[in-house]
Amino acid sequence: MPVTPAAQVTISEVGPRDGLQSVTAIMPTAAKLRWIEALHAAGLREIEVASFVPAKLLPQMADAAEVVRHARALAGLTVMALVLNLQGAQAALDAGAHKLTIPVSASPAHSMANVRRTPQDMVEQVRAIVALRDASAQPTGVEVGISTAFGCTLQGAVPEDDVIRLAVALAQAGVDEIGLSDTTGMANPVQVRRLFTRLRAELGDRAGAAHMHNTRGLGLANCLAAYDVGVRTFDSSLGGLGGCPYAPGASGNVVTEDLVFMFEAMGVGTGVILEKLIAARAPLMAGLPGEPLYGMTPEAGLPQGFAQDAAHA
Ligand code: ZN
Repeated sequence: MPVTPAAQVTISEVGPRDGLQSVTAIMPTAAKLRWIEALHAAGLREIEVASFVPAKLLPQMADAAEVVRHARALAGLTVMALVLNLQGAQAALDAGAHKLTIPVSASPAHSMANVRRTPQDMVEQVRAIVALRDASAQPTGVEVGISTAFGCTLQGAVPEDDVIRLAVALAQAGVDEIGLSDTTGMANPVQVRRLFTRLRAELGDRAGAAHMHNTRGLGLANCLAAYDVGVRTFDSSLGGLGGCPYAPGASGNVVTEDLVFMFEAMGVGTGVILEKLIAARAPLMAGLPGEPLYGMTPEAGLPQGFAQDAAHA
């Protein structure tokens, strides 16, 4: 009797949000929904599907509420939405997102440039969002990804003490999970091990996901480094869509297909079926004609004889 093995890591697909908001083309709603359904069919059980920001700033996300409502119908799927303020959080709660994710930058320069608030102001904003969630009596999770945790193109080095202090302040503000993002692709595996080890020592099971970028080719190495020190949730995007507007020809986000291949080849269950994951590139390409996709595994194909656990299939 086939029993689906419990996934040992969670692959959190961010393409429909992080990816789509980084490209200028607007994917039609129906195409987004087909793509999200294909990702779900491949076994992904956490997908960041939209960003609740004013449509005049991000027309790509104008259909956020509709996309969330539709994704909620997919069995077993945790539907995540990015929010930046109370207004966005309210809209995401109204649409029924299961988890809100809020980016908070450790670099004051990056924070001011991105959201015109200091990191301290953002902690207060997050505290208000947690209060809104609590008042809604919905079981919605609130998580933060600390951006520029490993370095910042504006500020340069970001002191690790600043990152940890910010993480602790966010935990005290009531955030359920706090992860670290290599927004600018500056992290290396030694740094990743050190910072996630400190984060986990400070926050215990409130320490969250690794959001790594492949800007300089270290995305998978950094994910593995995080895995080695106990991280079990990893953000990535199908075809490496999004994440890096500065380096044409280089993927920004870690490529989901390559990440899943790495873990599955190591015997670490992801719950994702690679053939179906690679097939999910078709609806993505159909919805964004001409947009370059990345990934070594889809290009090379699966190794001969590579078989995922029969129970997966
Ligand atoms: Zn990213």
